[in-house]
Amino acid sequence: MPLVDMPVHLPYLVRRAGAAGVTFSPGRVGSPAAATREWPVVVNCAGLGARELAADPTVYAALGQHVVLADPGLEELLIELTTEPEWVSVFPHGTRVVCGGIRRPGVEDTTPDPTTVRRILDRCVRAVPALADAEILGTPVGLRPERPSVRVEAERLGSALVVHDYGHGGNGVSLSWGCAARVRELVEGVGRTG
Ligand SMILES: Cc1cc2nc3c(=O)[nH]c(=O)nc-3n(C[C@H](O)[C@H](O)[C@H](O)COP(=O)(O)OP(=O)(O)OC[C@H]3O[C@@H](n4cnc5c(N)ncnc54)[C@H](O)[C@@H]3O)c2cc1C
Repeated sequence: MPLVDMPVHLPYLVRRAGAAGVTFSPGRVGSPAAATREWPVVVNCAGLGARELAADPTVYAALGQHVVLADPGLEELLIELTTEPEWVSVFPHGTRVVCGGIRRPGVEDTTPDPTTVRRILDRCVRAVPALADAEILGTPVGLRPERPSVRVEAERLGSALVVHDYGHGGNGVSLSWGCAARVRELVEGVGRTG
């Protein structure tokens, strides 16, 4: 199974986009209309922000938490496939191991929860005893931008075009290249109905 190291991958994408001529202007977009006043084509990849930007009430957060441990030299990753809200995942990244996981739909308080940390550690150490004495390096919390289904769709706004690309939940990295390819088709007018 391919494993993406996000703190390496995201700067790589920024560098790659920059080399392709992309410029970055950080800031908050108030509405698609505000963006289309400036640009004739807008791609909305706002994640949870699509609740407001696309006025889409079906978008919701599902909280996740990891426990990051110093890597004792693991050579295999492990993930438990289940529909339960808690599972075992142990992803070695060379110097650190990212352990999980949990999914709490509707919870948006991103304060790390010590009970959750304990439960993740107990499960992962039971599955991989070599982690028993590993130093805890972090307990990051994130929100998955969920939707009953991913939305990759074009919409006309006056003379401008808005292409939506959000609602990837816990699979946004896996789906990213495929969704980007479809966004490109929609921007270029391939298979667009609107
Ligand atoms: C704990 C956890 C584990 C995960 N594990 C995996 C995994 O194993 N595999 C996988 O594929 N995915 C995983 N994911 C999911 C993945 O991280 C998401 O699906 C992905 O980040 C979604 O990408 P996105 O660009 O659509 O949204 P986001 O990454 O949420 O980005 C949206 C961006 O839009 C910005 N924004 C929002 N509103 C506005 C506005 N009005 N103006 C300007 N900017 C705005 C936000 O600030 C943000 O930068 C995991 C997520 C979590 C939390």
